[in-house]
Amino acid sequence: MEPNISDVKALLAQPKDIVIFSHRNPDGDAVGSSLGLSHYLKSQGHQVNIVLPSDYPDFLAFLPKVSDIIIYDDETEEARAAIKRANLFFILDFNSFDRIDKVAEGLDKDKRPRIMIDHHLFPEPVADHMFSDPSASSTCEMVYTFIDDLGHAGWVTKDVADCLYTGIITDTGGFKYATSPRLFRTVAKLLEAGTDDNKIQDNIWNSMTEKQLRLLGHCLANQMELLPELKTGIIWLTKEDYEHFDIKRGDTEGIVNYVLRMPGMMIAAFIHEQPTIVKMSLRSKGNMDVQQICKSHFRGGGHRNAAGGASFAPLGTTINKFKKLLPDYAAEIDAAYLEFKNQ
Ligand code: 5GP
Ligand code: MN
Repeated sequence: MEPNISDVKALLAQPKDIVIFSHRNPDGDAVGSSLGLSHYLKSQGHQVNIVLPSDYPDFLAFLPKVSDIIIYDDETEEARAAIKRANLFFILDFNSFDRIDKVAEGLDKDKRPRIMIDHHLFPEPVADHMFSDPSASSTCEMVYTFIDDLGHAGWVTKDVADCLYTGIITDTGGFKYATSPRLFRTVAKLLEAGTDDNKIQDNIWNSMTEKQLRLLGHCLANQMELLPELKTGIIWLTKEDYEHFDIKRGDTEGIVNYVLRMPGMMIAAFIHEQPTIVKMSLRSKGNMDVQQICKSHFRGGGHRNAAGGASFAPLGTTINKFKKLLPDYAAEIDAAYLEFKNQ
């Protein structure tokens, strides 16, 4: 299953009809990597469609050709037709089929070739060619490397670079997490290709609506509980909040991170009530591994410092379950804190 770039080169030697998949509730990295790769593949004469299970957040509307993306929930027939026609699939920014739920139906037994490019931990065997690198900041960073390894760095146009840069900025929180010398070398190439750093960062960070700002205020003022002895803070939202603030997808983006602005905090939890499930997002600093917590207790996963999961229990029960399991991690939290402070 170790990927071989020459095999991939051979696959792409003839024009292909390609579908790129990325995950439900797509973020900047999912959309940026899919669009960036799509612009590149089109420049090589391939037919390309991007299929996402659900819509992308409004702040990504500035990305070139983003409206060409087929949203499975809204355009099911078009998505199915594109999938039926395809003779090659890319799987970007996810590594298990449950992240695209019904879009993945039948794919596991499908004989058509699949290429995965992803930076999440513990990939499942979802593709014939699996480019997996959990040390990468983002799938966008990996897509640049992929194009470069194909010998095509010169085909990274401004459109490709803008898309890839967007995912790098969102997944690293503006170069706050998962950075490396390799990442900054890649970023230099993207800027050389014409990306306007200030403009993209402005599009990403200064795109809040009044509703989002007021919602953030509500969370911080009324619905945040700090557990200083466990270096953890919890923010929650109820179904009623969703109605009262008319919360839509993307409106809660980034709220969880505020807890970690306090130097004594190592874990931030954002727990929110959806129509049928309770979803949670965990964030952490340093070596504190929240992926493990999500995997062991909330049927989830993700990365060491950013993970998510879900629960079928009511909101209050889920919050209590989280608070009850934390003491089991107290030693790990303290050790991670000491290491983080002393580094
Ligand atoms: P977020 O908290 O922003 O929704 O997600 C943070 C990270 O955790 C993302 O990289 C995402 O892939 C992962 N993640 C979020 N929810 C789930 C989930 O339900 N299952 C798994 N396996 N990963 C998740
Ligand atoms: Mn990502």
